[in-house]
Amino acid sequence: MRPYILAEANWKHIHDQPIDLAILPWGATEAHNYHLPYATDVIEADHITAEAARLAWERGARVMVLPTIPFGVNTGQTDILLDINLYPSTQKAILNDIIEVLNRQGIHKLLILNSHGGNDFKTALRELGVRYPAMFLSTCSWFQTLDKSQFFDEPKGDHADEMETSLLLHLRPDLVLPLSEAGDGKAKKWKVQGLREGWAWAERKWSLVSADTGIGDPRGATAEKGQRYFEAVTQKLSGLFIELAQMNAQDLYE
Ligand SMILES: [Zn+2]
Repeated sequence: MRPYILAEANWKHIHDQPIDLAILPWGATEAHNYHLPYATDVIEADHITAEAARLAWERGARVMVLPTIPFGVNTGQTDILLDINLYPSTQKAILNDIIEVLNRQGIHKLLILNSHGGNDFKTALRELGVRYPAMFLSTCSWFQTLDKSQFFDEPKGDHADEMETSLLLHLRPDLVLPLSEAGDGKAKKWKVQGLREGWAWAERKWSLVSADTGIGDPRGATAEKGQRYFEAVTQKLSGLFIELAQMNAQDLYE
């Protein structure tokens, strides 16, 4: 039993355990090219959060990892089989109820560890921050913590790409089809210049952009690349966990 993983802990051990930071991993259930499992984002969230929490715990941070939420925002993929969509308003309702419990029980810091590009918690946290002024609410997407070009040959993808495939080859190779069965992850570009360059935004209609649901060529992926990236990401995140757990929420700025 890892005492910082709520799903494994029991009340006997934790009922008087001080908790400075709750961490809520949030994934998605969606197709990932032809070769990765639907739970890819959940598997990444589970492993990355647990390992970063272990590193933080061993350095004295009193953190508690809540169970990973398995469904995310998939509004751009309504026609892709069994991509399960939670609306942002539903996510906010779930978050409200979790934060209400934390707030009532005196656990006043929360970090959402996001594992899915369609999830965006900032607007919900702005709103819930007004509703729960005693709470410190924060969010971080693990896939934005490091420069992927330091780890991968094809760093431009963002879905079932070389990075995600490498991570899954490291974490759950039993669930990855041979790369010869993967699609090339080729994605069409926007015709509108501002959207193409990324300084304007509109949601992508996923099935019109990619034939295999992937965005980014996975075929250079290896377990070794995945392990190196996993270790770097979890190391960096553990530093965030420690700082958030130990910071004084009444004295945040310098
Ligand atoms: Zn993913």
